[in-house]
Amino acid sequence: MIITDTHTHLYSEAFDDDRSAMVKRAIDANISRFFIPAIDSSYTASMLQLEADFPEHIFLMMGLHPTHVKANYKKELQHVEDMLAERRFYAVGEIGIDLYWDKTTLDIQIEAFRYQINLAKTYKLPIVIHCRDAFDEIFEVLEQEKSDGLFGIFHCFTGNLEQAHKAISYNMKLGIGGVVTFKNGQIDQFINQIDLEHIVLETDAPYLAPKPYRGKRNESLYIYKVLEKLSELYGISEESIAKVTTKNSKDIFGV
Ligand SMILES: [Zn+2]
Repeated sequence: MIITDTHTHLYSEAFDDDRSAMVKRAIDANISRFFIPAIDSSYTASMLQLEADFPEHIFLMMGLHPTHVKANYKKELQHVEDMLAERRFYAVGEIGIDLYWDKTTLDIQIEAFRYQINLAKTYKLPIVIHCRDAFDEIFEVLEQEKSDGLFGIFHCFTGNLEQAHKAISYNMKLGIGGVVTFKNGQIDQFINQIDLEHIVLETDAPYLAPKPYRGKRNESLYIYKVLEKLSELYGISEESIAKVTTKNSKDIFGV
């Protein structure tokens, strides 16, 4: 069984004390493929170091996170563009719109999102979308930018069934993580109505730890709790879920 964590910030400061041990714990438990979303240029060096430490397991993305779209965003976007030109990345992410933390930057968030969608198209890469309190705004951009060449993942999907279908209609898979184990997470109510071919697994570590670790530091090993929950909701084995979702991740990332 191979489990793929399609969204994990393993370079985060939260893992500074035990990063190698934490990654090895996961690998020993068959979680052997880690896709690493970018946040901004301040993390690039640690991402490259992580890749150097675990070259067979780590797959890097490049992008500017919506909550980090600030006054210097043009410089940050230039960094994203330079890095994409310099070497291989597996997705442009995470990108999108976040209106939970800051509504005043909506205009430049949309501009940065659109700009990075076009970089993804140029490099024929998937996008990994971060969406918080911003489904309408994200869908509006996707509607304008949709094409056969635009595809990717709606990371940490927290919408309703209708929004799930809509995301899928834009060639997006749904990233399912700890939220599916939450009592008030809502996606557990309908997720089994979505064909598994549209689902990928993620932790978003160190954030969003699944039950019973909710509120604590999340790590890739805890993806088992997500697997367990999906197995219960879909009524099929954990093994089958791991197999299908890993295949889906290969279809998206091309590796
Ligand atoms: Zn993330």
